Amino acid sequence: MSPSVATGANDVPSNEALPLSLPGEALGRDAQGRPVLIGCVCKSCGNRMFPVVPVCSVCMSEEIEPEHMPREGTLYSFTFVHIGPAAWAKPFALGYIDLSNGVRVFSHLRGLSLRIDETVELAAAEIGRNPDGTEIATFVFQPVPA
Ligand SMILES: [Zn+2]
Repeated sequence: MSPSVATGANDVPSNEALPLSLPGEALGRDAQGRPVLIGCVCKSCGNRMFPVVPVCSVCMSEEIEPEHMPREGTLYSFTFVHIGPAAWAKPFALGYIDLSNGVRVFSHLRGLSLRIDETVELAAAEIGRNPDGTEIATFVFQPVPA
Protein backbone atom coordinates (compact mmCIF):
# COMPACT_ATOMS: atom_id res chain seq x y z
CA MET A 1 0.00 0.00 0.00
CA SER A 2 2.83 2.41 -0.73
CA PRO A 3 1.52 5.68 -2.19
CA SER A 4 4.81 6.16 -3.99
CA VAL A 5 4.09 3.35 -6.45
CA ALA A 6 1.93 4.40 -9.39
CA THR A 7 0.39 1.52 -11.32
CA GLY A 8 -2.96 2.82 -12.56
CA ALA A 9 -5.35 5.75 -12.97
CA ASN A 10 -6.35 5.86 -9.29
CA ASP A 11 -2.85 5.48 -7.90
CA VAL A 12 -0.94 8.21 -6.13
CA PRO A 13 2.12 9.54 -7.96
CA SER A 14 5.60 9.56 -6.49
CA ASN A 15 6.53 12.57 -4.37
CA GLU A 16 10.29 12.11 -4.73
CA ALA A 17 10.70 15.38 -6.65
CA LEU A 18 8.95 17.55 -4.08
CA PRO A 19 11.28 20.09 -2.42
CA LEU A 20 9.33 19.87 0.79
CA SER A 21 10.17 18.71 4.26
CA LEU A 22 6.99 16.77 4.78
CA PRO A 23 6.11 13.40 6.09
CA GLY A 24 7.13 11.39 3.05
CA GLU A 25 3.73 10.03 2.19
CA ALA A 26 1.55 13.09 2.95
CA LEU A 27 2.02 14.99 -0.28
CA GLY A 28 2.02 14.14 -3.96
CA ARG A 29 1.35 15.84 -7.26
CA ASP A 30 -1.79 15.74 -9.37
CA ALA A 31 -1.86 15.27 -13.14
CA GLN A 32 -1.13 19.01 -13.62
CA GLY A 33 1.91 18.86 -11.31
CA ARG A 34 0.21 20.75 -8.50
CA PRO A 35 0.70 19.63 -4.89
CA VAL A 36 -2.02 17.37 -3.52
CA LEU A 37 -2.53 15.90 -0.09
CA ILE A 38 -2.58 12.13 0.11
CA GLY A 39 -5.24 10.92 2.45
CA CYS A 40 -7.06 7.63 2.45
CA VAL A 41 -10.44 6.00 2.11
CA CYS A 42 -11.82 3.04 4.02
CA LYS A 43 -12.92 0.39 1.55
CA SER A 44 -15.39 -1.04 4.06
CA CYS A 45 -17.42 2.06 5.01
CA GLY A 46 -16.20 4.85 2.71
CA ASN A 47 -14.85 7.07 5.50
CA ARG A 48 -12.15 9.43 4.23
CA MET A 49 -9.22 10.54 6.40
CA PHE A 50 -6.03 12.59 6.30
CA PRO A 51 -3.27 11.61 6.67
CA VAL A 52 -3.14 7.93 5.76
CA VAL A 53 -3.89 5.78 8.80
CA PRO A 54 -3.69 2.00 9.21
CA VAL A 55 -7.18 1.60 10.74
CA CYS A 56 -10.48 3.31 9.94
CA SER A 57 -11.59 5.61 12.77
CA VAL A 58 -15.28 4.77 12.09
CA CYS A 59 -15.46 1.00 11.52
CA MET A 60 -11.97 -0.20 12.56
CA SER A 61 -11.41 -1.84 9.17
CA GLU A 62 -7.83 -2.21 7.99
CA GLU A 63 -8.91 -2.07 4.34
CA ILE A 64 -7.45 1.40 3.79
CA GLU A 65 -6.31 2.76 0.43
CA PRO A 66 -4.43 6.03 -0.24
CA GLU A 67 -6.39 8.66 -2.13
CA HIS A 68 -5.83 12.22 -3.32
CA MET A 69 -7.70 14.79 -1.27
CA PRO A 70 -9.55 17.70 -2.96
CA ARG A 71 -7.20 20.68 -3.46
CA GLU A 72 -9.79 23.22 -2.34
CA GLY A 73 -11.78 23.62 0.82
CA THR A 74 -13.52 26.06 3.11
CA LEU A 75 -11.71 27.77 5.95
CA TYR A 76 -13.47 26.53 9.11
CA SER A 77 -11.36 28.30 11.73
CA PHE A 78 -7.94 29.90 12.10
CA THR A 79 -5.62 31.68 14.49
CA PHE A 80 -2.47 33.75 14.27
CA VAL A 81 0.63 32.55 16.05
CA HIS A 82 3.26 35.04 17.22
CA ILE A 83 5.49 32.71 19.23
CA GLY A 84 6.79 29.52 17.66
CA PRO A 85 9.84 27.59 16.55
CA ALA A 86 12.83 29.89 16.10
CA ALA A 87 13.27 28.99 12.45
CA TRP A 88 9.68 29.71 11.45
CA ALA A 89 8.67 33.11 10.07
CA LYS A 90 6.31 34.87 12.48
CA PRO A 91 3.54 35.71 12.78
CA PHE A 92 1.96 32.83 10.89
CA ALA A 93 -1.54 31.47 10.61
CA LEU A 94 -2.83 27.98 11.35
CA GLY A 95 -6.31 26.70 10.73
CA TYR A 96 -8.76 23.98 9.91
CA ILE A 97 -9.94 23.51 6.34
CA ASP A 98 -13.06 21.52 5.49
CA LEU A 99 -12.48 19.70 2.21
CA SER A 100 -15.41 18.90 -0.07
CA ASN A 101 -15.06 15.18 0.69
CA GLY A 102 -15.79 15.76 4.40
CA VAL A 103 -12.20 15.62 5.65
CA ARG A 104 -11.05 18.40 8.00
CA VAL A 105 -7.34 19.24 7.65
CA PHE A 106 -5.16 21.20 10.09
CA SER A 107 -2.68 23.30 8.15
CA HIS A 108 -0.49 26.33 7.89
CA LEU A 109 -2.27 29.14 6.07
CA ARG A 110 -0.68 31.62 3.71
CA GLY A 111 -1.48 35.25 4.25
CA LEU A 112 -2.61 37.34 7.17
CA SER A 113 -5.90 38.44 5.62
CA LEU A 114 -8.18 35.46 6.13
CA ARG A 115 -11.93 35.05 6.54
CA ILE A 116 -13.99 32.21 7.99
CA ASP A 117 -15.87 30.28 5.27
CA GLU A 118 -13.71 31.59 2.44
CA THR A 119 -12.50 29.16 -0.22
CA VAL A 120 -8.87 28.20 0.14
CA GLU A 121 -6.63 26.07 -2.04
CA LEU A 122 -3.60 23.89 -1.41
CA ALA A 123 -0.13 25.19 -2.22
CA ALA A 124 3.44 24.56 -1.17
CA ALA A 125 5.23 27.38 0.61
CA GLU A 126 8.30 28.26 2.63
CA ILE A 127 7.41 28.79 6.28
CA GLY A 128 10.90 29.55 7.55
CA ARG A 129 14.65 28.99 7.26
CA ASN A 130 16.87 26.51 9.05
CA PRO A 131 20.03 27.85 10.76
CA ASP A 132 22.02 26.66 7.73
CA GLY A 133 19.86 28.79 5.42
CA THR A 134 17.90 25.97 3.83
CA GLU A 135 14.20 26.53 3.47
CA ILE A 136 11.55 24.90 5.57
CA ALA A 137 8.65 24.20 3.26
CA THR A 138 5.38 22.48 3.77
CA PHE A 139 1.84 22.44 2.45
CA VAL A 140 -0.32 25.47 3.15
CA PHE A 141 -3.80 26.57 2.24
CA GLN A 142 -4.26 30.04 0.80
CA PRO A 143 -7.24 32.13 -0.26
CA VAL A 144 -8.34 31.58 -3.84
CA PRO A 145 -7.82 34.79 -5.83
CA ALA A 146 -11.14 36.46 -6.67
ZN1 LIG B 1 -14.39 2.31 7.76
